[in-house]
Amino acid sequence: MTDSVSNSDATAAPAGEKINLLGLPEAKLVAFFETLGEKRFRAAQVLKWIHQLGVDNFDEMTNISKALREKLKSQCEIRAPEVLRQLDSTDGTRKFLIRVTGGSVVETVFIPDGERGTLCVSSQVGCSLDCSFCATGKQGFNRDLSAAEIIAQVWIAAKSFGQLAPNGPRKVTNVVMMGMGEPLMNFDNVVDAMNLMMHDNAYGISKRRVTLSTSGVVPQLDRLREYTDACLAISLHAPNDELRNELVPINKKYPIAMLLDSAKRYIESLPDTHRKITIEYTLIDHVNDRPEHARQLAELLRDVPVKINLIPFNPFNLSNYKRVSNNAMRRFQDILMQEGYITTVRTTRGDDIDAACGQLAGEVNDITKRSQRYKAQFSQAEPVTIVTQ
Ligand code: SF4
Repeated sequence: MTDSVSNSDATAAPAGEKINLLGLPEAKLVAFFETLGEKRFRAAQVLKWIHQLGVDNFDEMTNISKALREKLKSQCEIRAPEVLRQLDSTDGTRKFLIRVTGGSVVETVFIPDGERGTLCVSSQVGCSLDCSFCATGKQGFNRDLSAAEIIAQVWIAAKSFGQLAPNGPRKVTNVVMMGMGEPLMNFDNVVDAMNLMMHDNAYGISKRRVTLSTSGVVPQLDRLREYTDACLAISLHAPNDELRNELVPINKKYPIAMLLDSAKRYIESLPDTHRKITIEYTLIDHVNDRPEHARQLAELLRDVPVKINLIPFNPFNLSNYKRVSNNAMRRFQDILMQEGYITTVRTTRGDDIDAACGQLAGEVNDITKRSQRYKAQFSQAEPVTIVTQ
């Protein structure tokens, strides 16, 4: 396993721009320092300054010689994107609206749960995959985030809690690549950022606490084990291809059987044998929440090491789907548990700050043709329900 997709672009800042060290994993930082004729251990020193102490000013790096600091200042920068807004929910959920280069806005959400603090990180501005229940999908695709813009979300959140300081509280304990965008469509930058999350000289988060969630880009999923051993979640949302084609259109290209085979290959490649794939299943009223869907799902996953996370659909503008009833959700969970599956229900958090992914940034990023099209359609649409039996 290598900790970076390529080292060749470590010094590849566009002409006239400085190299942003924030997004370089250790292998690329080592390569960079070697180009300066410096020892490899400089990479570890700089990683710790940036990611453990939150430093963005070379003058504060006191174990680095003044001459090297001057050289770094002339060629490099440590630059996080601007936090446009920070919203704090009464339940402790904290949401960041982050303006990236070019003016687009992405969302990052911190969700506390006892000792655990999970950060939901975005990988793209918008998303090209257009899942029918997803607020981000309605925006269309704008661009991939750089590795610096991805890891900056962890840096910004951790700093906001005073974590990046000597003996700072360890608030961000888990990361899920489950925010805006499909992470596997931005493979190289996501791998670099995830490896920084897990690196001992950066955030040191356990590989069991960093999760990549994909809707099923199978060729990229097949490559993933060469670069990371993080946890895997599959955004499934339907127990058969007919329904999944409606909800997650990439299923037409990579159907469920192909996706589950690929996910199994990934999980079986990991050295520790007890890990399970998390199956994400958004329950939508009268769409995919019937008992027969639960039974089909149980049958489908029979030979796959999984735990199942049920997510009640969170209604948003531009969607006619409705939230699942509590009864239907409990019935769905009961069936899966009777079939022997560990099945949890994600509780809704941060209602007072619109914490569901894509809701606020969508209002800011109202720029793509797709978002305009959905708005036009929605203003004329009749309510829609899909029920497959
Ligand atoms: S659910 Fe994920 S993959 Fe699907 S449109 Fe939304 S962000 Fe993209």
